[in-house]
Amino acid sequence: MRITLKECVWETIGDALVVVFDPREAITLDDPGGMVAALLGELARTPQTVDELSHALRGQGFEVSEADVATGVQGLDQLGLVEAAEERGLGDAAADERHFSTLTFFGSYADLQRSRAEYMRRLRRSHALVLGVGGGGSSVVQCLAGLGVGEMTLLDSDVVESRNFARQFLYRNEDLGRSKVVRAAEWVQQYDPAITVHPVERRVSTPDDLVDLLEGVDIVVGGLDGDPDANLWINEAAVSRGVPYVLGGVSRTMLVYSSVDPGRSPCLACDQFDVPDHEEESVAGASIRLAVRHRPSNPLIAPIAMQVGSLIAYEALRYLTGFEPPRAAGRRVVLDLRTGLTAEWHRFTENPDCTVCVRAPRPVSAP
Ligand SMILES: [Zn+2]
Repeated sequence: MRITLKECVWETIGDALVVVFDPREAITLDDPGGMVAALLGELARTPQTVDELSHALRGQGFEVSEADVATGVQGLDQLGLVEAAEERGLGDAAADERHFSTLTFFGSYADLQRSRAEYMRRLRRSHALVLGVGGGGSSVVQCLAGLGVGEMTLLDSDVVESRNFARQFLYRNEDLGRSKVVRAAEWVQQYDPAITVHPVERRVSTPDDLVDLLEGVDIVVGGLDGDPDANLWINEAAVSRGVPYVLGGVSRTMLVYSSVDPGRSPCLACDQFDVPDHEEESVAGASIRLAVRHRPSNPLIAPIAMQVGSLIAYEALRYLTGFEPPRAAGRRVVLDLRTGLTAEWHRFTENPDCTVCVRAPRPVSAP
């Protein structure tokens, strides 16, 4: 393997070598003889194998064995400073240019085992089912398209209305009255013709309406308006097929998002475990009943819609690539508009007897 240095800068101060890759931290290494600085210099000059590096360093007068250099490279790998040279890009100049920033993002998470190109390939091989292309869904679609998710199925049954323009940037004035999902698919195709997109104009009113849509899908994102139990149906359908589900929404003054990692995290049904019975003649029962019945006008404005959409898409990115674990799995993350969008993380209630989780396929290791 030919090894290369990530974008680093360094300076020798006496016996210390100060290296910066991520501007938030400077790494200080002991380097009394200057060999680590010479190794960084060689790695930055051109990608090399351990064997080539040891020759080059010996040529500079350092008495090092191949094993010494291998240990040095391993140390730099643990610090996140090196990666596999051949895997910095996809090997296709046009694709590398199109995905330049996404590949650079993955550069922060790449090492000698996990490459930027592999993360990118995972995204391009992924198929996302986006439920709803309205408030949050509209920006989810734009984020997933920007990331280069290879295939999307978009589901909605609404038409474009002028009130959507407060927050839904897939749509233009000339689209008024058109099917949202058809226009959203058109937007994706015009944005990046390499993405395969399937528009599905359908109103989901029972769990059965979702079954065919989950075939071959790697992730479900979004949520459905209408029936208050719709997200529980999606949860059940997704968990029983082992497909992760990321959802979010906004109430009057709270942005909330969560995800369900089938068989690994509690699911939405687990979280219903200790919810008071909404038929109950009690203050708690009435609170639930009223919250479910209440149908306020939609107060979702662009900055908040884009925030929820971007958080959903970012969580989806974790599932699709495995660059880090899903952070919102089995958690309700609440960003409170009353407190300047500060986040609070609440774990779902765990229910070992959950009748949905028991149907999750046996988990395999994350990508
Ligand atoms: Zn469950």
